[in-house]
Amino acid sequence: MGFQRAAQRIDELQEQCVDFLARICSIPALGPENHGAGEMAKYLVIRDRVRSIGPDLEEEVHSPDPRVPEGVRPNLLVVFNGKDRSKTFWILTHIDVVPPGERALWDHEPFQPRVENGILYGRGVEDNGQSLAASIIAVQAVKETCGLGMNVGLALVSDEETGSRYGLDYVLNKRPDMFKPQDLILVPDAGNENGDHIEVAEKHMLQVRFRVKGKQGHASRPDRTSNSLRAAARLIVELDERMPVRFPDRNSFFRPASSTFEPTKKEANVPNINTIPGEDVFFLDCRVLPEVELSRVLEEMRAAAREVDKKFGVETVVEEHLKFQAPQPTPADSPVVVACAQAVQEVFGVQARPVGIGGQTVAAFFRKRGLPAAVWQKALEVAHAPNERISIDDLVGNAKVFARMMV
Ligand SMILES: [Zn+2]
Repeated sequence: MGFQRAAQRIDELQEQCVDFLARICSIPALGPENHGAGEMAKYLVIRDRVRSIGPDLEEEVHSPDPRVPEGVRPNLLVVFNGKDRSKTFWILTHIDVVPPGERALWDHEPFQPRVENGILYGRGVEDNGQSLAASIIAVQAVKETCGLGMNVGLALVSDEETGSRYGLDYVLNKRPDMFKPQDLILVPDAGNENGDHIEVAEKHMLQVRFRVKGKQGHASRPDRTSNSLRAAARLIVELDERMPVRFPDRNSFFRPASSTFEPTKKEANVPNINTIPGEDVFFLDCRVLPEVELSRVLEEMRAAAREVDKKFGVETVVEEHLKFQAPQPTPADSPVVVACAQAVQEVFGVQARPVGIGGQTVAAFFRKRGLPAAVWQKALEVAHAPNERISIDDLVGNAKVFARMMV
């Protein structure tokens, strides 16, 4: 059994892998938007480690960014040849991290990783260090034992946390030839504690601003005003009643299975109690099933606003604040999903199933280009939180899942 030997080798490499992960996570890799100097210092350590296992192809696809000292944001593509060279199993991970946030919420220094009872603590250990380190030892272990069944590619990118403009988006624009529709693309950057979710789809995101304009005046003379707050309140209720009825579609990939239309932010209106407000602004955050047209959603909202306008003598402007159109989902029977589910079953003994999520992941950049990408990892789900941590058992288990897919 080839895979058993690789799995055993991963166990032997565990300590070395934890040391490597702790070392790279001691180097903050924050983008300029997060007031950092970029990823280069951390990148160079990672590149050395990757080079030590002898890739057959190495491409640095650095993107120019004058805001960082070196003037570029590093991105690395390496390929290790396998027996079947007709397709490549890619694992994409990112080098950058988010800031620690409120320091007082951490029990120790965020950028001084440490191990305690099988748990490694530190900023970036889960997001995305665990999978980055696991993917490297997986390649090493398989290469040293049974050999790679197909080509394996590691894509290590910058700028995932701040939009991917200098990371994956740049790489895909610059080197579209590196990724093929028959490739298997795994993005181990999100997942749950059981490891039984393989994310293949996402909802559209639509944030809408409603600006309700009435007529301001003294609270004692409502007959001479149009109260924008009353109209806004009525419109929120109207949308709440109308939208789920007009968009009743359900898709069991997602939780919840339906589109959602949530009133969220409400801007301040008048500062005093004895004035009837003349303008109210509120927002809806909508997560819409990919099969629903976003233009229809907006149309329906405008129709609701017109009805309320007529009744309350106000004028409502309905505008898109932010729109993200979800790409076509990765088919649930695509090879990367099937292979991942098999490997998860074998290593962790759980039945993983394809799911959808409400927000965007970096996998969308692949899907937009018709490349089937799946998002999976087994993790404690504490990315971006204080006291970010991973279980070393997960680190090793995830490496075995990757190794199983490589064999
Ligand atoms: Zn991440």
